[in-house]
Parts: sequence; structure tokens; C-alpha cells
Amino acid sequence: MGSVKRALPNILLTGTPGTGKTSTCELVAEETGLRHVNVGELVKSQELHSGWDDEFGCYVIDEDKVCDALETLVAQGGFVVDYHGCDFFPERWFDLVIVLQTDNTLLYERLEKRGYSQKKITENVECEIMHVIAEEARESYRAEIVQILPSNTVEDMESNVERIAQWVKQCTGS
Ligand code: ADP
Ligand code: MN
Repeated sequence: MGSVKRALPNILLTGTPGTGKTSTCELVAEETGLRHVNVGELVKSQELHSGWDDEFGCYVIDEDKVCDALETLVAQGGFVVDYHGCDFFPERWFDLVIVLQTDNTLLYERLEKRGYSQKKITENVECEIMHVIAEEARESYRAEIVQILPSNTVEDMESNVERIAQWVKQCTGS
């Protein structure tokens, strides 16, 4: 589907855990007035899952429930959605899809600091090395709306926020 007319655009910020989605979204929300939806938090708080996965140490997300919960919100426009996956959202929801990427060693350190298990760190670093999320985004959205941005340094983050804010400005003509 092509573009859907909304007063305000919706942005999806995706990437492997630890690449900086939540930090970036918070700054984007401050800068643009778009509202930040942290899907991982929503899954926990509204129990949009089918239980805890012991092997992977995470909730088993119920994708249909998540989409139902978000549909009426996102339809209004004006949201920046933060999640480490992107293939189950309806394509028509988003006007811009940002994939953040981080160098392996930096990502390793960030996830270690977060207290992740060795297994979970390895899995996520491998996911990043294989560009799993970038591939997923390319397969799920039109190439013109997907942007892959580095998120290694604070300067990267600032420039990404600035770039997204500029895009929103152009989009809303403000
Ligand atoms: P995500 O939401 O993708 O899991 P977070 O935003 O929680 O990632 O970031 C994980 C950690 O890495 C945080 O401590 C954050 O401050 C740091 N971080 C994220 N992006 C950057 C960056 N571009 N430069 C430096 N530190 C970053
Ligand atoms: Mn996060």
C-alpha cells in the first residue's frame, strides 16, 4: 500500500537490542512532539504476550494483540514506535523506518552492562553481525522509506535525532 493520509507521520525505530532505540526515541519525542511508544514496555504492562520464554529470557510476544492494541493509536498518526522487530506491523502504519546499527564490540559492552546472560549477549551480537533487523526491514517496507543509521557514539545519536527531526519538519511542512 502507498502512503496513507495522516495529519502527522508515524516513524518506526528498530534495531537489535542495545543499538539505542529507546534513547533515540526519547530525544526524537522531545525534539518533534511525536509520542514515543515502547512496544517492549507495552507488552509487559498490558500483558500482550503468551508467557515467559525461559530459554530466551524474554516474553513471547503476541503479535496480534500488540497490533490490536496499537491500531487505534497509530491510525491517528504522530507516533514514534520503538521495537527490536518490524515484520509484523502493518506496512501502512509507517512513513519512515529507521534501523539503528552498532559495532559488535560496542554492542557487546552495552549488553554486558545491561546484565544480559552470555547466551543472550551472543545471540544479539550475532543478530547484529548478520544484519537480521536491516534485512527484516528491507523485506517488510518499501526501500524508499527505510534508512539504516549508525548508532555507535553520542554524536551519532545526536545526528540521527537531528536528521529525523528534519524529516518530520519537512513532512508536516512546519
Ligand atoms: P535499545 O532501546 O535499542 O535496547 P538503549 O537506548 O536502551 O537501546 O541503549 C542501550 C545503552 O546504550 C544505553 O545505556 C544507552 O545510553 C547506550 N547507547 C545507545 N546508543 C548509543 C550511542 N549512539 N552512543 C553511545 N551510547 C549509546
Ligand atoms: Mn529499548
